[in-house]
Amino acid sequence: MKLRTHLVLTLSLSALLFALWAFLVANHAFQKTDIIIQQVLLGREASFLSGQIEKEGINDAFLNTYAEAHAVRLTLVDHAGNVLYDNEEAPNRMDNHALREEIHSALALGEGKAVRYSKTLQTDMVYVAKDQGNLVVRLAAPISSIGTWRKNFFSTFIPTLIPFLIILLTLCILYVTYLLRPLSQLSKAAAIWGNGKLTHQLLPEGPEEFQILARTMNQEARDLARRMEASENERQRYASILDTMVEGVILVDGKGRLVLSNRAARRFHGDELLSDSTIAQTIRHTVLADVVENSTIKFEDQVFSITTAPIHDGDEVSGAVVTLNDITRIQHLEQVRRDFVANVSHELKTPLTSILGFSDILAGEHLDEEERIHYATIILKGARRMQGIITDLLTLSSLETEGKQFPMEKVEVSDLVDDARESVRFACGQKRMHLVIGDTKGFQVTCARNLMVEALSNLLSNAIRYSPEGTDILVSARKDAKGTMISVTDHGYGISPQDQKRIFERFYRVDKARSRSQGGTGLGLSIVRHVMLIHKGSVKVQSTLGAGSTFTLVIPRELG
Ligand code: ADP
Repeated sequence: MKLRTHLVLTLSLSALLFALWAFLVANHAFQKTDIIIQQVLLGREASFLSGQIEKEGINDAFLNTYAEAHAVRLTLVDHAGNVLYDNEEAPNRMDNHALREEIHSALALGEGKAVRYSKTLQTDMVYVAKDQGNLVVRLAAPISSIGTWRKNFFSTFIPTLIPFLIILLTLCILYVTYLLRPLSQLSKAAAIWGNGKLTHQLLPEGPEEFQILARTMNQEARDLARRMEASENERQRYASILDTMVEGVILVDGKGRLVLSNRAARRFHGDELLSDSTIAQTIRHTVLADVVENSTIKFEDQVFSITTAPIHDGDEVSGAVVTLNDITRIQHLEQVRRDFVANVSHELKTPLTSILGFSDILAGEHLDEEERIHYATIILKGARRMQGIITDLLTLSSLETEGKQFPMEKVEVSDLVDDARESVRFACGQKRMHLVIGDTKGFQVTCARNLMVEALSNLLSNAIRYSPEGTDILVSARKDAKGTMISVTDHGYGISPQDQKRIFERFYRVDKARSRSQGGTGLGLSIVRHVMLIHKGSVKVQSTLGAGSTFTLVIPRELG
């Protein structure tokens, strides 16, 4: 049942009960008043009749007329209680009245009163008796005989009751509506606040208590909105801290299901990673044993170092935080470092072994001049080889030094080519090769001159090294939107597409024996690549196995 109906019914019922109570009280009061009035009137008449009887004696005709005229019952009783006269009944048929309450009182006190049901007249009667000296005069009349007040009251009360009730009900409804309006506003506002619109404000109206409540609730809503905004800001701050982290962070519940992940974790496909059996097992162990776990997993072509730490909810472990670190690059660098150390050791060990071996022979044996020269030449070759490797390593190391500045200058490409040609002139002549210098004049570039000459020399050395005797090498330059390009083309052995991808790695050689026999260190192209990186340029290769290769240095537009 609605509160409104409930209140209207309660109020109406209370009003009805009140009306009923008022009716009963009024009825009772009227009845009492009727009796008192009746008693007063009957008393006066009894006094009047006592006077008459004293003057005229018992005159039946007079008494009958009087009783009839005043609609009363008149009885005369002697002091022994015998009925001497009664206008309703024959006295000899009536029993002794000495013990009737009103007669008994009148005999004792001079006047007596009583109210009781009269069997003779079959109605409630009011009795008043007065001792006249010789006899008792008793008058009786029904209560209802003079109840005009009551009649008037009922004749007014009953017809006005219905309109009164209608007015009462209307007033109840209006009052309840007035009372409940702020309450319904309040419940509407609560629903709006519940939907998150905390800026909604209640109008303070209705009774004062509701107005206070409305103001308090408005204040509460404003405070709540402020607190929610603060907590949302806080949440966003944490979210942005999480999102700016390099490490992937994933929050999982006790069953290993994803709850939250940061941007890095999403980039690492954290949700897919969670289904990896190693991670799932690590999480399970962390949650069950309440311990921090570390593991490394390989996922597709990436390697992750993973830490799982338990999250506590009271004494219980409610989930875990999984931190993912992409260590692919670190592992790769570690591998490169190991390979590099192994390569350097190996590259130095070979000439060193031969130097040591042949030095031993030179020192110990009795050798003729020819043998001595032969062994000394081998030692010299080994030492030169070591020197070449060490020089190249130092060059590479200097190129890789972070923040190192190389002075830049504007130079003619033809000057760079001339310098480089000088450095390979001897090797070129030895293999009877012909260096064709194409169109290199008129091109100017800004570069670290020595480094660029070194890069060009390395390309020319390789072209000589990996081409058959007597073939031509072409050097040319051109300019386009990207910058200036200097190309070295040979008609040598060429490089397969697979090897083209790796020849710029340190110590990578397609044919180790050929490279070593030709005095290669395996570092030349690595140096070229670094020189071009310093110039923010690049080196490209085009090659066909058995037909020849073209290496191109690309010097970017801003330097070209
Ligand atoms: P290396 O000192 O061995 O020449 P580089 O780094 O200069 O080392 O070259 C790496 C490898 O690339 C060489 O060992 C060789 O196998 C291959 N290479 C380089 N230049 C040429 C070329 N012009 N023609 C064929 N192969 C080449």
